[in-house]
Formats: sequence, structure tokens, C-alpha cells
Amino acid sequence: MIPEQFKTFFDTYTEAVLVTDDADAPVYMNAPCRELTGFNGGNVAAFPIADISKVKVNYTPANDKKNGRWECSYKRANGNELWFKVSVSPLPVDGKNWKIYTLSYNPAHEQLRETLQLSESRFTSLADETPVMIWMTDHTNLTYYFNKSWLDFTGRKLEEEVGTGWFQGVHPDDTQVFNDIGHLLRNNINYSVEYRLKRHDGQYRYILEIGTPRFLPDGSFGGYMGSCLDITEMKMAQVELAAQTKELQRSNEELEQFAYVASHDLQEPLRMISSYVQLISKRIESGKTEGLGEYMQFAIGGVNRIQALINDLLQYSRVNRKGNPFAPVDLNEVMKIVTAHLMNRISETGAKVTFGEMPIVNGDSFQLIRLLQNLTENAIKFKVPDRTPEVHVFAEDRGDYWKIAVKDNGIGIDDKFYSRIFVIFQRLHAREDYEGTGIGLAVCKKIVERHGGEIWVESKTGEGSTFFFTIKK
Ligand code: ADP
Repeated sequence: MIPEQFKTFFDTYTEAVLVTDDADAPVYMNAPCRELTGFNGGNVAAFPIADISKVKVNYTPANDKKNGRWECSYKRANGNELWFKVSVSPLPVDGKNWKIYTLSYNPAHEQLRETLQLSESRFTSLADETPVMIWMTDHTNLTYYFNKSWLDFTGRKLEEEVGTGWFQGVHPDDTQVFNDIGHLLRNNINYSVEYRLKRHDGQYRYILEIGTPRFLPDGSFGGYMGSCLDITEMKMAQVELAAQTKELQRSNEELEQFAYVASHDLQEPLRMISSYVQLISKRIESGKTEGLGEYMQFAIGGVNRIQALINDLLQYSRVNRKGNPFAPVDLNEVMKIVTAHLMNRISETGAKVTFGEMPIVNGDSFQLIRLLQNLTENAIKFKVPDRTPEVHVFAEDRGDYWKIAVKDNGIGIDDKFYSRIFVIFQRLHAREDYEGTGIGLAVCKKIVERHGGEIWVESKTGEGSTFFFTIKK
């Protein structure tokens, strides 16, 4: 209950006065206040105090020196809306903080309210029509407005999005960007951020958001206004462009490498053919035909080598261009085919080729056969003289991917050559010791990369090597 002396005092007031207790519950209203608000009969405690605390414009919070002040629109019991100026000041009662609200109404403000309402409705319809998503915060940076584009995008209601509700839609990995711009927000400075926001269909889309501070006529900060654009397509195009540029760089490097080594590796047998053909021709001219058969064999050997090189090169260039679409491939079956293909080599060398339980993976079956065949063939080929080659192929489950290993007991590789051997035409041995074109591992690398994995070797010279590659599940 309001103390009697206050009541007598406020009853003489011509201004509208409302008193609230320390819980901000209305306890007293003088006659001008009842008249102004239209809240005539009944219990003062039922007066909707919150309605006059909804700050509209020109808000000045209370402090030690100043009363709190603002202007707001209030809907009277008869439905009319009035534009009030509200001032609130402390009223100490029995050591507690009660408050006196003074409400003043000026018909001139009505005009202001109408103008404001008109401009607000213009703004809202403009904002709702634009494809850009727009929001506004109050001076405490809580969002109170989202335009139609935003609500259509998130598929949520305004009530769900206001305050900090919208934040639930931000991708958990991107919430940090708002901490990063915290200092700009605290100092009311323009900012721009990118983050992913959940669309109504559950898909996260990339958003570019530009925030601009709004300032009230008295210069105080009124909140931020933000505009957001869905830049997912642009972002995807950027990613694709970066991937294409990388692929272009890679194929360029490959081409350079190719041009460099081709001049050596392809010319070497050509030179040999040319010199033997010249010898043969001289011999024929001079009528000395003995030994021609041997020369012919050398020349044919060169031709065969060029053929092998060209075949391997074709395979190499076809990995990306002529690949088949991915489908489930049982690597147990692949290993059976590989051992069948290598039957001659296995029986020639007496090699023991075994494999553990192999998984089913998603890939290009022809390329996976080629991959495991190249690795197994090398494992048999690079054997230590007088040691029976033993090759074991096995798989390890690594969660998201499989790690496949081809282990041998061959000559091994010095660790300084670990990466070089995957480069096209790079060989560590003379052809007389171990035949080959130096393309096999480059093909393996390309196939593994096309399947989104990696390939590498671990080895000990004289003891053997294990080639590993990974493949996504
Ligand atoms: P190629 O077998 O035709 O020489 P690769 O590209 O398959 O070409 O291999 C490149 C080089 O890597 C080989 O020449 C050899 O020196 C080395 N290498 C490949 N596999 C093995 C292995 N299992 N053990 C030892 N060295 C190997």
C-alpha cells in the first residue's frame, strides 16, 4: 500500500502519475493517469505496466543523476493508441526502491507517432520485399526485428528468432566468428562476417553478413542493422575454381615433368633403333649381311621398349580421363584376379603371395585391380637374389577409411628415395638389373588420389618394403 502522505500529495498533481513498488508492480495511479490511460475502475495492480516500458524511441536509461526517459506508444482500453513521454524516478519508501512514473501526452506527438508509424510501415514493406535478409537489434544488441526474407530462409517464427534465438541456427563450427568481432560490436563499429546458417530444409548455407550501427538523434547507440546474403553458390564456385586451378597446376607440373623425362626415356630406345638400323643399312649396302639377325633383334628390342613405354604412358594419362564411375568393389575378389594375372611371375619366382581379410570399398574396380597388381608385381620383381619373394597384402580399419598394405621381403628402398619413386619415369635401378618403365608407381599414386586417398612407402634396405595406401569407406 502506498503511504497516505504520498497519496494525498499525488492526488493534487495535474500530471499523470503511476507509482510502483520495489517489484515494479503498480500500487497507485492518480486521477489524471487513470484518465490518460483509460484504466479507470478496478485494481491498479492489474495495470499492464510492461506496455509503457516497451521502449520505442529516445531512450535514456536512469542513472544517479538522471531520471530514466523514453517515448512509447500505448494502447488504451478503448483501442486508441496514444504516444506518451515517460519519465521514471526513484521513490524511497521504507528503505525500498519504489518508482514514480510520470506520463505526459502531447497531441503534437501524435503527428510524430503517425509519421513514425508510416515510415516504419514503409520500411517494413520495403525490407520484406527485398531478397536480402535484414535484421535489427536494440541498444542492448538483442535482435527484435527480422524481415520476411530472413524468416522465409530459416523457416522459423519471429518469436523464435528474436533476442538471441537466431543464434541456434548458426553452424556450431562458426559461432566463433561472433566472438572474433566482439570488440567491433562493443564499440559500435561496422563489421562483416561469414558464417553458415541453417536453412528451413536443414541445409547449412554460407551467409555474408554486414552489420551497421544505428545512432539515435541524440547521438546515442540505437542498435545494429544487419543485411545478410546467401553466398553459398559463389563460395562453391570459388572452391571449384581453386580445385580446378590446383588440378591445372598439377597437370602442368606433370606435363613439364613428362616433357623432361620423355626426351630422355623415349629417346634412348629410339637412338638405339636408329643406330642399329643405320648399321643394318650400311651392312646391306656393303653386302656384308652376316650378323644382321642380331642387329635386328636389338632394333626390335628398342621398338618393344618404346611400345611398353607408350602403353604405360597411355594408362597413366587415362587414370583421370577414362575412369569408370565408382561402385562397391570387393578387394578379396580383386586380389584373386591380381594373383591370377601374375600367375606366370609367381610360378617363375616361386613367390608366396597371400592376403588377409579384405574389405569392400567404393571405387573403380579396373583401377583398383591395376593398383594392387602394380604393387604386388613390384613386390615380387624387386626381390633379393636367392630369396623367395614373400608378399602379404592386408587391410586395417581406420574408422573413416581403410589402410591397405602390400608388404614384401625384397631389396628395400633407401628412405631418401621414398617420394621420388612415385614420380613418373623415376627408377632406382638399371634396366639390366630390374626391367620396367618407371611408370607403375606414378599410375598407383594417380589412382589412389582419384579415390581420395594417399600412398606412401616404409622400408628397410635389404629387408623389404611395405607400400601403404588409404581409401575412404
Ligand atoms: P618400374 O617398376 O617400372 O621401375 P615403378 O614406378 O613401379 O616403376 O617403380 C619405381 C621404382 O621404385 C622402381 O624402379 C624401384 O626402384 C622402386 N620400387 C618400386 N617398388 C619397389 C619394391 N617393392 N621394392 C623395392 N623397390 C621398389
